[in-house]
Amino acid sequence: VRGDSRLPTIVLNEGRERPIEQGNHWIFSGAIAEWPERFVNGDICEVVSARGKYLGYGYFRHGNSLAGQMLSFDHTPVEQKIHELLLTAIELRELEFAGTQTDCYRLVNGIGDSLPGLTVDKYAEALVVQISTQGMDRLKELIVDELIEQCRPKFVYEMSDMPTRKQEGLPQVRGMIYGKQKEAKVTVQENGYKFIVDFEKAHKTGLYLDQREMRRLVGERSQGKRVLNCFAYTGGFSVYAAAMGAAQVTTLDISSEVVEQAERNFSANGLDPKDEKYDFLAVDAFKFLREQGDLDYDLVILDPPAFAKQQKDIPNAVKGYREINYQAIKRMPVGSYLLTCSCSYHVDQETFQKTVGQAAQKAGKRARIIHRHRMGSDHPLNLAQAENDYLKSLLLYLD
Ligand code: SAH
Repeated sequence: VRGDSRLPTIVLNEGRERPIEQGNHWIFSGAIAEWPERFVNGDICEVVSARGKYLGYGYFRHGNSLAGQMLSFDHTPVEQKIHELLLTAIELRELEFAGTQTDCYRLVNGIGDSLPGLTVDKYAEALVVQISTQGMDRLKELIVDELIEQCRPKFVYEMSDMPTRKQEGLPQVRGMIYGKQKEAKVTVQENGYKFIVDFEKAHKTGLYLDQREMRRLVGERSQGKRVLNCFAYTGGFSVYAAAMGAAQVTTLDISSEVVEQAERNFSANGLDPKDEKYDFLAVDAFKFLREQGDLDYDLVILDPPAFAKQQKDIPNAVKGYREINYQAIKRMPVGSYLLTCSCSYHVDQETFQKTVGQAAQKAGKRARIIHRHRMGSDHPLNLAQAENDYLKSLLLYLD
């Protein structure tokens, strides 16, 4: 039965309704038999199967291989749908984080919260909004109004400046969109540790919230240990390690700005960055490792930026992961631990694992997996589309 809405209609090819019926949001151009006569990119259309069965509605874009993303699998009008989806997303986080010492987390995880193209992160009294698609951008005002109504934030900061927006025909947007605050800056807590977030300078939406559980894991294992944190950003892993009693913590990042922020984050947690146990280095991790003799550390963390931003980068990315892991493993002592990560969506778990294995083999060490990445509960995954799980971490024991 066709919907009775006045939305234009997209008709799918025979059999292509199945993933949608299972809750997958993506519709590729090859699945579409008929586009509406009058249509502008970003328009919401209702979707029907080849046999005329109503499947819901989504937003569409001509000329993209990913032609559309579903917003609803029923007849609920879009304003009501957005209201309900945000409400349930927020309720889930309240369930998960009430009474904890964490006040910064992902409030909306795109498709994981049935809102493709939308990310919303909470940083204490602030919200950060990131929109990646034209279809979702059209709903921005509605979404921001709902968020203000439901969360009562002090300010909302938009951080829609991902390079992929250009392909969507969207401008780069970064700045305050609600609130009178002069400085877009907050101090948040994660598992009881404080971090200063300066949204004007920040990477991602402020912090790498997706590594929270791994930072906890590193903290738990740091007592009395010598810890080397490469690609440290503002010192997330380092603060946990130092606060949990590490004997030595070296914090290293190529950007001097973030290294200085890491020092301020030590101070915010009552840790003296000038203490001789702590080193802060603004250097290239590749160069640093190559220039070392033995690495006198019990635990090394390698959390580099995504080496593969697109499909075609995969071979070079794999080389990069092999090289950085080889350079570290070769120098690490027998009986030490390596936490190695990849946030490249295009390099899958199997490829990453194989690549690190090759690095260990070349370095002449045995590497065993002690732990794998643990996702925080603020990053739910849609079971019908779980390939969105881009982040992988392996905790390895080397001998
Ligand atoms: N582990 C961090 C997030 C790391 S993000 C956390 O938990 O918060 C990756 C970081 O790698 C960025 O801060 C970036 O500045 C840094 N980086 C990029 N290339 C680098 C290089 N060649 N050497 C050292 N750091 C680098």
